[in-house]
Parts: sequence; C-alpha cells; structure tokens
Amino acid sequence: MGNDILVLAEQRGGRLHATALQLVTAARELAKATGGQVLACVVGHKVSEAAGKLGADGVGKVVAVDDASLELYSPLQYTTAAAAVIEKTAPKAVLLAATFMGRDWGPRLAARLKAGLASDCTEVKIEAGAVHACKGVCNGKAIAEFKFDPARPAIISIRPNTFGAAAAGDGSVASESVAFSAGDGDDRVRTTEVVSTSSGIKDVTEADIVVSGGRALKSEENFKILEEMAQVLDAAVGCSRAAADAGYQPHSRQVGLTGKTVTPKLYIAFGIDGAIQHLAGMRGSKTIVAVNTKADAPIFQVANYGLVADLFQVAPVLTQELRKLKDL
Ligand SMILES: Cc1cc2nc3c(=O)[nH]c(=O)nc-3n(C[C@H](O)[C@H](O)[C@H](O)COP(=O)(O)OP(=O)(O)OC[C@H]3O[C@@H](n4cnc5c(N)ncnc54)[C@H](O)[C@@H]3O)c2cc1C
Repeated sequence: MGNDILVLAEQRGGRLHATALQLVTAARELAKATGGQVLACVVGHKVSEAAGKLGADGVGKVVAVDDASLELYSPLQYTTAAAAVIEKTAPKAVLLAATFMGRDWGPRLAARLKAGLASDCTEVKIEAGAVHACKGVCNGKAIAEFKFDPARPAIISIRPNTFGAAAAGDGSVASESVAFSAGDGDDRVRTTEVVSTSSGIKDVTEADIVVSGGRALKSEENFKILEEMAQVLDAAVGCSRAAADAGYQPHSRQVGLTGKTVTPKLYIAFGIDGAIQHLAGMRGSKTIVAVNTKADAPIFQVANYGLVADLFQVAPVLTQELRKLKDL
C-alpha cells in the first residue's frame, strides 16, 4: 500500500453529497501524517461538475468513474467501480460516509478487497505508520480503537457531520477518468427506480437550521407547531429520542447518540432536557437556543441563548414574529 488517502464521495443525480467535502477534511489530516496525498473518487453518471467541486484545497487528484449504468447506486456495480479505483491507486486508507449508502458500500468493498473495515467512526489517525480509527461504543461510555493491517487498504466509514466541510474546489484540480467495466454477475442486483419519500422538509443532517422538540411536545399533532416554524426558517425538524420513542416523530429525525449527529448554524431545542445522549448529537451546532420550563435543565449549559418559558406560549409567537421579519 502507498501513503495516499482516498475519499469515496457520494453524489445524487450528479450533485455532490454534503459528506464528500467533510471526508476531504478527515483525509487531509491523515495524509499530513502519512506524507501522501489526498485522492478523491466519484462514481456515477454525468459527474464532471461533482468531480470539480470535489477537487478542494489539499486534494491532489480526482478520479471519476462515469458511466450511464452507474446513474443510480447499485451495490455490486458501485463496488466493482470503487474496487477498480482502489486497486489502481493503492491507497493506505479509503474514507467513505456512514450514510445509508455508505453502510452498504463499505462492507461490500471490504469483502471484495479482503480488507478491514471500521464503520461509523469519529476519529482517524496514524500511529507508528498504521491507520487507526475510533468510535464510541457501549452507548458512548467507551471508545473502541481499530488498528489496521498495513498490508491492506484500511476502509473506514465516517459519521456524517463529524468533520467540518472543506471549501469546494473550482474545477482546476488534476483529474482522471477510469472506464467502468461491470464484473461478472454485477447485474444480479440492479436499482431500477428511486422513489423519494421526502415530505418536503429537510433532513436534520443537511439543514442549516434545525428546530427540535422533546417529550414536552406531548403529541404528533403538537409537532405541527415546530413544523410551521421550520417552514418559515427553511429548517429541518428534529427530535429527542423520548419524542421519537413516543411516536411523535419518525426515528429518522432523532438527534443524538443513537440518532443523527447534526452541526447546523442554529439549533433550537423546545422542551428538550439535554440528556448527555442528546447533547452528543448536537453540541457541535454553531448557535444553540433552548426553551424549557425548568431553569436548571442541562440543555441550558450548552445553550448560547436560553428562555425559561412554556414552549406552547413561545413557539407560536416566535413563528409569527419570524414571518413578519421574513415578510411572509
Ligand atoms: C443508550 C441510550 C441512547 C440514547 N440515545 C439518545 C439519542 O440519540 N437522542 C436522545 O435525544 N436521547 C437519547 N437517549 C435518551 C436520553 O437519555 C433522554 O431520555 C432523552 O433525551 C430525553 O428526551 P427529552 O429531553 O425529550 O425528555 P425529558 O427528559 O422528559 O425532558 C423533557 C423536558 O421538557 C421540559 N418541559 C416540559 N414541559 C415543557 C413546556 N411546556 N415547555 C418547555 N419545556 C417543557 C422539561 O422541563 C424537560 O426538561 C438515549 C438513552 C440511552 C440509555
């Protein structure tokens, strides 16, 4: 294996996924320690624009595998495409995102290449020449550290929003195309159609603003109060585990240790106590606002702005005022 670090970027419909430039940040740290360069790879169809953006500062080369048969994520074909790039570039480590797609892609790649895999990691480093990756286990009470065999590429999936995103490239980076050649039997599994179930409200991991609610909301119906505010702010709706477990919101909106990690510019927590498992998923937010009736709720310890008040009185008034500000 060489000393380079390869980023496997995701794209949807030719648009780079937000995690891609976060992986570049993680890869730059590793490459500094190995003395190698950061390589970035994008697999799909009509990906030249995505490839240009992927060429962020510190990326030595972007490799594109562009083929009409790769338009939609298909597990076997994407594995074949990425494996060909890894065999060609012989990186020391391969970073991909621990998204739904990455959770499928990473293990398949590791099996195909007979390489080790550490998934959903939050730290990567080089020690005595070997790649190490770390992740929280036992509900965050312990950290597991994985050391990779230097003879094989280390495949590591990184939890979204763990690293800040590198600034997108301007297309001036060196690039290379690798022709796609499907492997035997790759067509056993083929994605024919992707139907979006999106409700029009953004995902918590991708929004600049997250309006989040806890058990205090008391019902699914009451969450409409927060959905209205989210619409005005062009925000995502998030929730605590207590709210998700009670069925007020889908688990896909749960923020925290066993939910999603978010780092929005603004996180507004309504009726969320601030348990350590919740804070684990949102304390990296740039500005945190908390509304809670209990003055000593732990959420106030991480909040930049706090309001000791009843959310049912505050939230509708705030939405009304925001509407006025936005002239809606
Ligand atoms: C292994 C494990 C993993 C976990 N993972 C997660 C996770 O990923 N995410 C997560 O969130 N939790 C997680 N939890 C659960 C966590 O420990 C808490 O139980 C949970 O976060 C509590 O949710 P909550 O703050 O909504 O509810 P509560 O603890 O019930 O807090 C409700 C808050 O609302 C306030 N309140 C009540 N009425 C009002 C009102 N009218 N207006 C304003 N404020 C009001 C109360 O003062 C209180 O602070 C996990 C727990 C375990 C053991």
